[in-house]
Amino acid sequence: MSSGAAKPDVQSRRLGDDGIARNFGDLHSPLSRSEALIEADRCYFCYDAPCTTACPTGIDIPGFIQKIRSDNLRGSAHTILTENIMGGMCARVCPTEVLCEEACVRNTSEEKPVEIGLLQRYATDPVFADGTQLFERAPATGKTVAVVGGGPAGLSCAHRLAMLGHDVVVFNRAGKSGGLNEYGIAAYKTIDDFAQKEVAWILSIGGIELRNGQALGQDFTLAELRDDYDAVFIGVGLGTTNTLGIANESLSGVEDAIDYIALLRQASDLGELPVGRRVVVIGGGMTAIDIAVQSRRLGAEIVDIVYRRGPEQMGASSHEQELAQTNGVTIHHWAMPVELVGDQHVTTVRFARTELDGDGRPVATGDEFELRADTVFKAIGQALQDESLGDLEVTAGRIVVDAACRTSLDGVWAGGDCIADGDDLTVSAVQHGKIAALDIDRHLRGA
Ligand SMILES: Cc1cc2nc3c(=O)[nH]c(=O)nc-3n(C[C@H](O)[C@H](O)[C@H](O)COP(=O)(O)OP(=O)(O)OC[C@H]3O[C@@H](n4cnc5c(N)ncnc54)[C@H](O)[C@@H]3O)c2cc1C
Ligand code: SF4
Repeated sequence: MSSGAAKPDVQSRRLGDDGIARNFGDLHSPLSRSEALIEADRCYFCYDAPCTTACPTGIDIPGFIQKIRSDNLRGSAHTILTENIMGGMCARVCPTEVLCEEACVRNTSEEKPVEIGLLQRYATDPVFADGTQLFERAPATGKTVAVVGGGPAGLSCAHRLAMLGHDVVVFNRAGKSGGLNEYGIAAYKTIDDFAQKEVAWILSIGGIELRNGQALGQDFTLAELRDDYDAVFIGVGLGTTNTLGIANESLSGVEDAIDYIALLRQASDLGELPVGRRVVVIGGGMTAIDIAVQSRRLGAEIVDIVYRRGPEQMGASSHEQELAQTNGVTIHHWAMPVELVGDQHVTTVRFARTELDGDGRPVATGDEFELRADTVFKAIGQALQDESLGDLEVTAGRIVVDAACRTSLDGVWAGGDCIADGDDLTVSAVQHGKIAALDIDRHLRGA
């Protein structure tokens, strides 16, 4: 295949408004009351519910489903949100096929689990629709806690601390809070500005002051926070993106998938976003799937994902891989990029086929192929921005914490994607924030 200087075909408005509206509507329609009741009736209400054990936040799943059966949606939402304050977002974004629904015993008897995620959404949607407050603050303790990062980990920690009677200030670098719920999750998973509705509801408990546009390492230091507050929680996520480390990464048309997704999530008119006719995505995680599917849904004609290992090693679940394939994306396994080709704008990516060496690392076999591209998205993972973390112990690019989310520094806790246990799931970040808040509370009460 020639790698000559073809004119890049990158355009906005590849699809009309109707096509865009169709493609970026709700990925899964919410259940109607009758559908929810039928689905709730499928639950066996297992005594030792394996789904609850499989949920990182330990929601009492049979308990909330039982309340749906008796039309007690407020009680059901209370059961969910008590364990997971972002139960609304998690109902939309959790890869349930590898969490609660994978553990459902209906898988063995009928090969189809109870639709736990959709039931969770059915129960929690009314809370966010009418702003019902379900929680009360305990009497004020007079203690103040600084939370750095307004994503799922930080907001979960802040809400639990506020419930326990502490006053919280959330410092958040971005202009809006919600973290990747606002800037990262695929648009069709969280429509109608749900991320901001959820943030507003979380803050409505009171006792939480949100300071957007305030960054650790820029506007204040960790030492200052430790002096000024009774405890500090760090939930800064992963701030930088890994690079490919190959020639010509600065060609135009070579883009960071996360930056583009953030642009897409903030766009008031999706049709205005320019997208290539031929898009190549490099990576194998959720970000790679999301940018590939969203490119197709913006009207890209040919979208290829290239990953250096096999389907089982992809960070994206088989369900997510299937979503890409049913959206017309081709996934190529066992290949890695060796060169981005183009004059000023990328036209082609040269790949080497890979195999595993003796240490289990993918290496080039010597066999190569090329893919034409108008846009190349890098989706090869993120890294911690650790310059602002001072003496905090960091290993393999993540903050070291114990089981209670305590860091190596007294009075400092951390959770979410930025810690060593982070598994890059919203639900896990929420759980870290909750665990840390409970331990901070014990610490502040001298228990
Ligand atoms: C493209 C993409 C798609 C994803 N899709 C899914 C999905 O479908 N399902 C799922 O479960 N998970 C998904 N994830 C993962 C999920 O979004 C994260 O695991 C989750 O958001 C982590 O929460 P967090 O609070 O740790 O970090 P973040 O959400 O990254 O939030 C960190 C916050 O800290 C702030 N911050 C950063 N640095 C500083 C600083 N120095 N000072 C102050 N504030 C700072 C940021 O502005 C941000 O608001 C996806 C991730 C990506 C990138
Ligand atoms: S939070 Fe996620 S994993 Fe837990 S029950 Fe809800 S959908 Fe399942």
